[in-house]
Amino acid sequence: MDQADSAAARRDLAFHLHPSTNLALVQAEGPLVISRGEGVYVYDEAGNRYIEGMAGLWCAGLGFSEKRLAEAAYRQMLALPFYHSFSGKVPAISTELAEKLVGVAPEGMGRVFFANSGSEANDSAVKLAWYYNNALGRPDKKKLISRRKAYHGVTVASASLTGLAFAHSDWDLPAPRFLHAETPHHWRGARPGESEEAYAQRLADELERLILAEGPDTVAAFFAEPVMGAGGVLVPPATYFERVQQVLGKYDVLMIADEVICGFGRTGNMFGSQTFGIRPDVITCAKMMTSGYQPMSAMMVSQRIYSVLEDQSRKLGVFGHGFTYSGHPVPAAVALETLAIYEERDLLAHVRRVAPVLQEGLRAMADHPMVGEARGVGLIGAWELVRDKATKAGFDPKAAVGAQFVRNAQRRGAILRVLPGDIIAFSPPLVIEEHELRELLAHAAGALDETW
Ligand code: PLP
Repeated sequence: MDQADSAAARRDLAFHLHPSTNLALVQAEGPLVISRGEGVYVYDEAGNRYIEGMAGLWCAGLGFSEKRLAEAAYRQMLALPFYHSFSGKVPAISTELAEKLVGVAPEGMGRVFFANSGSEANDSAVKLAWYYNNALGRPDKKKLISRRKAYHGVTVASASLTGLAFAHSDWDLPAPRFLHAETPHHWRGARPGESEEAYAQRLADELERLILAEGPDTVAAFFAEPVMGAGGVLVPPATYFERVQQVLGKYDVLMIADEVICGFGRTGNMFGSQTFGIRPDVITCAKMMTSGYQPMSAMMVSQRIYSVLEDQSRKLGVFGHGFTYSGHPVPAAVALETLAIYEERDLLAHVRRVAPVLQEGLRAMADHPMVGEARGVGLIGAWELVRDKATKAGFDPKAAVGAQFVRNAQRRGAILRVLPGDIIAFSPPLVIEEHELRELLAHAAGALDETW
């Protein structure tokens, strides 16, 4: 069945405004309507099975049929389907989750603020950086530095942090206060013969020059994904975060780790910060916290920052930021059950055990004429497709080579995602088994040959 021909696809085309989609293309080709999931597979309405190489949008860590999460949501709905956390009340289950998160977080996190999406968590962190500096009597220390190719979301502040063209073009985002530093990508950005360490030092020096040029008294925070996801699955070069942290420490700039993709095991540790030696003052996280089964995000802050907020609310009478659904009991129950499953099944050990199959499989195709770089860590990886391996020149964007690859992979039964610059992302459910990873890689290798 042609995708656009089914009744569901036709209804969808008539009524749905798709997020982050080429709207003209989806009208022409029709959406792939997914109706059920099982393990690491999803099925379309015609019953075709696809191995989900992206865990949806980097989120279904436990796959697509974990009954315990459904049961946890149901039990919570019967016990207390909604309650809020404003003005001194709180659902019991949200308290439990906050305690649990602080327990699994990197050292130094003391308090948890809940929101609904990664974008909201990052908007909250932006506002926090401003509010915090006002509370400390530093009204000029408000600029935020993220990186080109970063993805931090699409609400007004998080889109301003995002360093990808599509989040800015025609959206009239307010530009002041948002600065973008260089993307850490050794394969593309390093000079000939420059080691990862020397490249990392150069980027840290550039960051320092940027802070000095702006004035350290005007720079509040640095936002970074441990592994940059939507910008191309960019793994930081060795010593990068160590060097960056030294600079931030020197000028009292907050380190805000966006763990929306890396959090909850993607890189083989509970948080990407642990994999890369980041010492965050603030962490934002979402997605795999509930395995994507319920929308929920969190912003964790150090006890030091929390104390400043508490003092300030004593003065102002309120900490004036929060959402109706902050700490919603149903996603909280699902998140707690997710974390219980992680522990019972030692999921982090599983990720470390199977990750080499993905990483070696991706690198095994590095000789392919179209693969410029194969890269990744843990259960996240990518192929960067190029027209010319020697010059690293990419394809003409109009040729949409990456999109063609994704179509070819889909026809073979694998769902993968193309990122700007014809980069093919891999981010399967964390529960994936070795033989399923091999199946995913075989489909991808076949699609690569077909696209070439
Ligand atoms: N931060 C990162 C690193 C992300 O990858 C994403 C989404 O993919 C977001 C933030 C935004 O999350 P959401 O789409 O839930 O708003």
